[in-house]
Amino acid sequence: MSSRAPKEIHEERLKMHNANVANRVQYFDPKTGSFYENLLEERPCPTCKTNHEQFLFFKDGGRYVKCTQCDIVYLNPVFKDENLEKYYRTNHDLQSEIVANDGDFYTNIYSKGLRAIERVAPKGNILDIGCSAGIFLDLAKSAGWKTFGVELNEREASYATAKGHTIYNKFLNEVTFEAPLEAICLWDVFEHLKDGEVYLKDMKALLSEKGVVFLQIPSADSLAAKMLREKCNMYDGIEHVNLYSYKSIEKLALKCGFEIESCETVIGEIGVMNNYLNYDDPYFGNSTNTKTFLGGLDEKWLHDQKMGYKMQLVLRKKG
Ligand SMILES: [Zn+2]
Repeated sequence: MSSRAPKEIHEERLKMHNANVANRVQYFDPKTGSFYENLLEERPCPTCKTNHEQFLFFKDGGRYVKCTQCDIVYLNPVFKDENLEKYYRTNHDLQSEIVANDGDFYTNIYSKGLRAIERVAPKGNILDIGCSAGIFLDLAKSAGWKTFGVELNEREASYATAKGHTIYNKFLNEVTFEAPLEAICLWDVFEHLKDGEVYLKDMKALLSEKGVVFLQIPSADSLAAKMLREKCNMYDGIEHVNLYSYKSIEKLALKCGFEIESCETVIGEIGVMNNYLNYDDPYFGNSTNTKTFLGGLDEKWLHDQKMGYKMQLVLRKKG
């Protein structure tokens, strides 16, 4: 795993962040300093549909709450679908460039996820939703999977197609697959979906009998999220509409006819927490210790507690 100092990683990402901040200005009402009200809609808890919300904090114009019934953290109000779509169309997305700049780090993360899938699913057709330039699919293909991807960004989709993957440049519900899928993967995508229930049910219908859904999502249980709260990059105000804890993703999975086969956490964010503990900016402080924090706790300890920054979950159909 990457042991580069947070400052080094985040300075590279600052360019993209600044472009996104400039893009966001158009959505802010100067009178209130928050988003224009007509862009937003109120909603009940996206998982249990009740209104038992506990206010947490504001972050970059977004209001985050937690459902006291099922534990999910979510944006309320949230951008209406048409505005969210417009936002993504104009957003400067360099995901494939970030992955290319940080190759070893992503290869490790992707390999770990693929191993978790291969422990339960028979090798066959694998679909990556939001596959970007197809870096994960490259890995799956070389491991013997037949690879499919869904990617809305045209440039990214054509990159992935050129590498021999079958890519659909459209929404998932517009695609027809000829054969059932053994695995459907969503890498850092599910937290962007307002209605996870609809997607999980749609995906279930596409799976073979022993097929699985794989999710990598930021974890609301992570120590970094709990310690840094609104200072944590997990909370961005617009894009990350639903942040799941283990309890809340399990509840949603069961509701949609899945059970959790495995859950592991990845990424410690120890350097980020060390900066914060030094009263510095978590992402731009000067700490170079990315190995241990609080006098000796390390990344292994963090993942043993399932308190790493992201969860990798394998969901299988309930028998
Ligand atoms: Zn709820």
